[in-house]
Amino acid sequence: MTKVELSEEEEPPSTTRFISEEEILREYIQDRLDRDKTNLSPRSIEFIQRYFPEATEKDWTSWRWQLKNSAKTIGELSRFLNLSDNEIRPALEINNTLPIRITPYYLSLLDRDNAEQPLRKSMVPVIDEFVAGTGEASDPLSEEHDSPVPNIVHRYPDRVLFLVTGFCSSYCRYCTRSHMVAKDKCHVGIKAWEPALQYIRQHPEIRDVLVSGGDPLTMPDPHIEYLLSRLRAIEHVEIIRIGTKVPAVLPQRITRTLVNILRKFHPLFISIHFTHPDELTPEVKEACERLANAGIPLGSQTVLLRGINDDVAVMKKLMQGLLKFRVRPYYLYQCDPILGSAHFRTPVEKGLDIIRGLRGHTTGYAVPQYVVDAPGGGGKIPLLPDYTEGRDGDFLLLKNYQGKIFRYPDFTE
Ligand SMILES: *Cc1c(COP(=O)(O)O)cnc(C)c1O
Ligand code: SF4
Repeated sequence: MTKVELSEEEEPPSTTRFISEEEILREYIQDRLDRDKTNLSPRSIEFIQRYFPEATEKDWTSWRWQLKNSAKTIGELSRFLNLSDNEIRPALEINNTLPIRITPYYLSLLDRDNAEQPLRKSMVPVIDEFVAGTGEASDPLSEEHDSPVPNIVHRYPDRVLFLVTGFCSSYCRYCTRSHMVAKDKCHVGIKAWEPALQYIRQHPEIRDVLVSGGDPLTMPDPHIEYLLSRLRAIEHVEIIRIGTKVPAVLPQRITRTLVNILRKFHPLFISIHFTHPDELTPEVKEACERLANAGIPLGSQTVLLRGINDDVAVMKKLMQGLLKFRVRPYYLYQCDPILGSAHFRTPVEKGLDIIRGLRGHTTGYAVPQYVVDAPGGGGKIPLLPDYTEGRDGDFLLLKNYQGKIFRYPDFTE
């Protein structure tokens, strides 16, 4: 475990609930015991034997080992994948690619030969990424414009987005924050949070803090605990939310120790970024269950991506699968127009078709809210298929999920 150096003024107030040394030790031992009896999937075992013959099963289940052994260049990727021309061209033609990082765990889910596999397309760069399309921008949501202090985006009246790190364990090619996460540097450091914390403290209208990045759960335990305790110490902060993809790309990170830190800061919510039903492995199920068992309500966020999940059947499988993992689908995002995203974007009509294909056809809990994050900083705008068919006198004509028309006696004033 990395030791965090806290200077005097960063020492959190004594009212915050830190877990005791004894508890940390006990959970640490439990984590080690868990690892000793790991039942790795045949997929993982085969992958380890093929690509990391020197690694033990315990190495594999250590999130730090996973981070250390992530693939970070196209050259490294070529060890695991038979790269297609489109995947090799960024290396041949452009030196300065956006950052690459894929954990060995996630690599083990990728198809060695099929460059069209959805998970592979979401993580492995292709030459299309370097073609700027109409209306694309490096900061399409104008987050910098709504940033009163570094690392805070304050766009809505009662809540803020707090970007606590620029680091992710795996970089999605379509990432909205690629202009920020791009550095693949280590974490911004807890000292850099001070202006943001002060801003939140000085704005009593902020009752909800959404901790995001980068990926907050890639930070060491003491940093996470320090951050959450600082936020909890602010009286008007009612709820804390964490946005993360870690449970899907680095499920080994969800240790008992981490979960026991998180559960001390309720009400705490976690939104997990999922892309495709192939991500729903037994490892991910266990990670989600640990979080849910700690009383943390779990939501999901998914970006609609062409050729990856822009299909009713795929999306239904993902949303229903998430419910089985006790994750409630929250948002389906229209892909933001970041630079080089044209090959990922679908028409908005596609998103509406997907919602039309879910609503009524499956559990209401499995239907996320479809939103477009308005370019220029307008925030999330919800879109719904139009279920109205005009009026007939005092009656509003409504179309149900099967396309049948029903009449509702509606008053006009
Ligand atoms: C998405 C987002 C939020 C949170 O929005 P909710 O609809 O409350 O989940 C807050 N701030 C910013 C800048 C956001 O992009
Ligand atoms: S996990 Fe989130 S912040 Fe990180 S690269 Fe993917 S979309 Fe971007």
